[in-house]
Amino acid sequence: MSDTLLQLAHVSKHFRVRERGLGQRRTVQAVRNVSLEVEPGETVALVGESGSGKSTLGRVAIGLLTPTSGTVAFDGRALSSLPRPELRRLRRRMQPVFQDVEGSMNPRLTVGATVREGLLVHGLARGQAADARVTRLLTEVGLDPSYARRYPHELSGGQRQRVSLARALAVEPAFLMLDEPVSALDVSVRAQVLALLLELREARGLTYLLIAHDLALVRAIADRVAVMYLGELVELGSERAVYDDPRHPYTAALLSAIPVPDPRARSSRIVLPGEPPSAVAPPPGCPFHPRCFHPERGARCAAERPTLRLVAAGHLAACHFADAPMPTPPEVS
Ligand code: ADP
Ligand code: MG
Repeated sequence: MSDTLLQLAHVSKHFRVRERGLGQRRTVQAVRNVSLEVEPGETVALVGESGSGKSTLGRVAIGLLTPTSGTVAFDGRALSSLPRPELRRLRRRMQPVFQDVEGSMNPRLTVGATVREGLLVHGLARGQAADARVTRLLTEVGLDPSYARRYPHELSGGQRQRVSLARALAVEPAFLMLDEPVSALDVSVRAQVLALLLELREARGLTYLLIAHDLALVRAIADRVAVMYLGELVELGSERAVYDDPRHPYTAALLSAIPVPDPRARSSRIVLPGEPPSAVAPPPGCPFHPRCFHPERGARCAAERPTLRLVAAGHLAACHFADAPMPTPPEVS
């Protein structure tokens, strides 16, 4: 048995898509050769622009999607090798919480019924015992138990996210895959939901994979940060290492986009040219090279793919120049 709770080894996920009009089939390389381990009790934040493969990786990690290649192991057991009943039991321990969007909750079910559903499905409690569990869960996520009788449309976005958390916690998971859990919420509410996530992690000893597209929010809660670009992991390290000493120019660009409260303290913001390239045809060499601003970038970057390698203790980056700290970027806007 390993100490690692979640182990992704060389995971790739490709989608076959039919191109509009032409009827031609193409392959979207949503996730490419990602290896990542998450220790029990740890929070790993997965960050990157929209389309970088975060949600796909998150879904693969909890067995909602099957990887095209590579393996996913939870608690030392490979998901692909488990017989169905065991896989079901294991999947119960890994629960997703998604962004609060239209339709993430059944509009015809009361809050109580929504939270109770998992208890019934997994045969954990029924009748009055289930009611008592629902009451306890709603209290745990900071909602008055009377909310059990309400419907999703009667709630605010923050309240709905609390219900989503209660629903996920109902089945006693060890691991939560939180996919943009606060992105749809008002700024003032985001901090409250993040504080609740911290509280629940402490109280229940939970392990989180926290997906977010902006780095500003996750700093307070992440132990480690994994940065994705075009389906690949380009940097991985402790929260401190990645925020204070980013070694990949893409990470530096993401960090520079974080608003600073004091305008005089604002560091130069790096504006990346162009859109992220297509995941159908990732650029050869370093996938980031067409948008790169590193002063030392050159022909090598277009030709040779940098591997994700150790650049300091526990800190990995996939850039040919990652052994030295990032030079201060020249661009200012
Ligand atoms: P992120 O969560 O970082 O925004 P996604 O994992 O949702 O990224 O998407 C990564 C890439 O995979 C994108 O190019 C997206 O269009 C594509 N993709 C995601 N899911 C599917 C799917 N079911 N079928 C086809 N392409 C998909
Ligand atoms: Mg996503």
